[in-house]
Amino acid sequence: MRIAVDGPSGSGKSTVSRMVAGRLGLTHIDTGAVYRALAHKAIREGVDAADGAAVSRMLGETKVLLKVAGGRQELSVDGVRVGGEIRAHEVSAAAADISGHREVRARVVEAARAAAADGGVVMDGRDIGTVVLADAELKVFLTASVGERARRRYAELAEKGGSVTLAGVAADIEDRDRKDATREDSPLRRAEDAVLVDSTAMGPDEVAELIVRLAGEKAGMG
Ligand code: C5P
Repeated sequence: MRIAVDGPSGSGKSTVSRMVAGRLGLTHIDTGAVYRALAHKAIREGVDAADGAAVSRMLGETKVLLKVAGGRQELSVDGVRVGGEIRAHEVSAAAADISGHREVRARVVEAARAAAADGGVVMDGRDIGTVVLADAELKVFLTASVGERARRRYAELAEKGGSVTLAGVAADIEDRDRKDATREDSPLRRAEDAVLVDSTAMGPDEVAELIVRLAGEKAGMG
């Protein structure tokens, strides 16, 4: 079974997708990590993530490998395994910029599809139900209020010891929402056949349980 989980920043997609994958014995694939890894490289190399020509040059010299090993996603860029460095606050903003380029999206879509080719996955992102796995057996569009998403992201960043403010995180989330929703190539939107889940007042466990139940219903129907 392939489950597509889309939604805006901070809706809890990754946490919930990981839980669902664990419960159903599927592999969790986090496509945002690939955009983040490319954004991280751009920052490291002094490439402006909003500059299409510069990003295109960088992409021509970049090897991205997304694969599944031992039921887990493994991501490497230029032969180096990607880790927690892509979660930094400044990488989030650059990822939102870099993901606006058509060429970048094509590369990530190809990598994500290849990673899902040999088995069951729970894949999260912005365009999974609409583009990457448009024929997924189950599609979920996970959302939550801006205030709640900012609070979650802030708690996550504060735990890591970052020097951010709640207002700063909220502004950043709104900025990323706008970029994701208005880009020309595959903007964030709910697929027509996606189940809408508002997690504003729900914990990750509850959301995961709901998705597992929906997956069970789909499997029963098939
Ligand atoms: O999900 P995450 O916050 O890690 O994603 C980082 C950025 O990558 C997002 O702000 C979004 O612009 C982009 N993204 C995307 N399509 C995806 C996954 C992520 O455009 N499928």
